[in-house]
Amino acid sequence: MNTVLNTQSLSLKSIFRILAFLAAACGAAARADGPACTFPTPDDSASGDRFYPAGRWCNDALVGEFWNGFGMSSGGESDGWSGAWGYDDPCNVDLPLGRTFNTMSLLRDKIPAAYSFAAAKIDDLDAVCTRPNGAIATTANCFFTNWTQLSMEFFYGSGTNLNYPIWARAGTLAHEARHYDDGCWGIGYTGHVTCNAGDFAGREVCDPVFARPTFSTSNEVDGARPYSYSVEVLTRYAFVGRSEPRAYRENARYRAQYALDNRFNYVPPALATVPPIPLDLHTVDPTAN
Ligand SMILES: [Zn+2]
Repeated sequence: MNTVLNTQSLSLKSIFRILAFLAAACGAAARADGPACTFPTPDDSASGDRFYPAGRWCNDALVGEFWNGFGMSSGGESDGWSGAWGYDDPCNVDLPLGRTFNTMSLLRDKIPAAYSFAAAKIDDLDAVCTRPNGAIATTANCFFTNWTQLSMEFFYGSGTNLNYPIWARAGTLAHEARHYDDGCWGIGYTGHVTCNAGDFAGREVCDPVFARPTFSTSNEVDGARPYSYSVEVLTRYAFVGRSEPRAYRENARYRAQYALDNRFNYVPPALATVPPIPLDLHTVDPTAN
């Protein structure tokens, strides 16, 4: 495993990263190391990390694909992925790195279009203890600054909801991937706008309209901003089939509907409701309750 993770090459991406570091050092203050994080003992039944065990992807080939495909590194300007974040124990799904790999594997297996899209878009995937305003994840993409940071809320949930399940994390990866089209200062028009109504009214955490994503990597050809990608991934998971626990699929459907109700200023009537999942009383996994 370590042979994969230790592989280094001076790619163009590395050179750009060095230039970005120099730019940051000369301009705004470079990000300081975050505080040491303590990781909770997660409820892996609720999060899905037990139902989707690491054995599906815990091999050199797939770990290498994830690590390189998402531009991950053990050092850099963030807190992770080194040490306790999981670098030395990459197949442990209780740790941030393993939970992230597990999420990538779910996308790869169940929603491959979203996986390919996220891997193509996300340039430098890092982990941090905290983000301002409790953001689950943040992406910056402007000239030589191209990174996505995942926070503790991504790995373990927050507040009264100490669980951010694997299908929600999958939606977040696609969401953040779409932010790579924001461009500098949001001029790519895929950033967020102020919510007109709903649970986040007055905050700049909504998208203007829901549009069905195409997962095309050629800029904003589908008119779908990040929350459309979140909804699409959650909905595809909700209807992926009866092989997945019904409780998980219904949770994904609920999350998709909640986002449609609270993360858009307009949803076309034909797309405003995620259809109910047919009851499936035969294949409910008991660990999902
Ligand atoms: Zn966003």
